Amino acid sequence: MVRYKKLFYRSYWDIRLYMLKRKAFVRSGPFEFSVYRNLLTLIKNSEGNKFIDFDSEVLFPDQRGWYVRHDIDMPNCLNQLDKFLDLELTLGIKPACFIRIDSPAYASIDVLPLIKEFSKQGVVFGLHSECYIHDNWKDYFESEIKKFRTYYGFRPQAFNVHGFGHYKLRERECFYKYMTHQKINDYGFSFCDLHNGLREYKYCIQDSNALFPANSLEDYRPERRFLYNDFSTIPPIHKGSRGLVLTHPGYWV
Ligand SMILES: [Zn+2]
Repeated sequence: MVRYKKLFYRSYWDIRLYMLKRKAFVRSGPFEFSVYRNLLTLIKNSEGNKFIDFDSEVLFPDQRGWYVRHDIDMPNCLNQLDKFLDLELTLGIKPACFIRIDSPAYASIDVLPLIKEFSKQGVVFGLHSECYIHDNWKDYFESEIKKFRTYYGFRPQAFNVHGFGHYKLRERECFYKYMTHQKINDYGFSFCDLHNGLREYKYCIQDSNALFPANSLEDYRPERRFLYNDFSTIPPIHKGSRGLVLTHPGYWV
């Protein structure tokens, strides 16, 4: 399971102090694309580290394996996605993109041209569900899967969830518990990284650390985000384990 840090600070200086204590990479959003390119190149060229295709569950005993994933949370994630995918495919990386269905953020059908272009090159497109915020979440989950198939012409092989901070956190955790390996199979998914019981990530390098709590459930301003220094040094996870590089392309320029 990806662990999101709970950070709530009163002032800019609180944040700077926290970053200094953590030896964090002091960089707030929007982030320069070159930082991302440098991270991928660093991993690719570092002995003992390698990328894993997102739909593979393979473990390499002598390597640290890194998956690459994009969550498409907001319109600007869509606008920037091709830039990310072009880079990753050039480096031989097969990432995954997770799409929200019928969210207020963007029209799901707007993703179709990207799916057509990149799925044939090995990029995985899955469902970024927000079913758990609805009372009838099982029905809602089924409807998301059905709509995904209607919009894009295939059933998603993977899914995970879109987080809303603390909003409906208890329900989200219940959904995690509900989704066992058996349930994943029952729903017809091939693989899933919803939580560590389904796919274990020893570390998540991610771009959604929050400087301030959002003003609303749909507030994704990049300037509210910051990066740790794990974007410039590879975290020392054990060989034979796997990590995740998770980005939201809309936070980048
Ligand atoms: Zn999300």
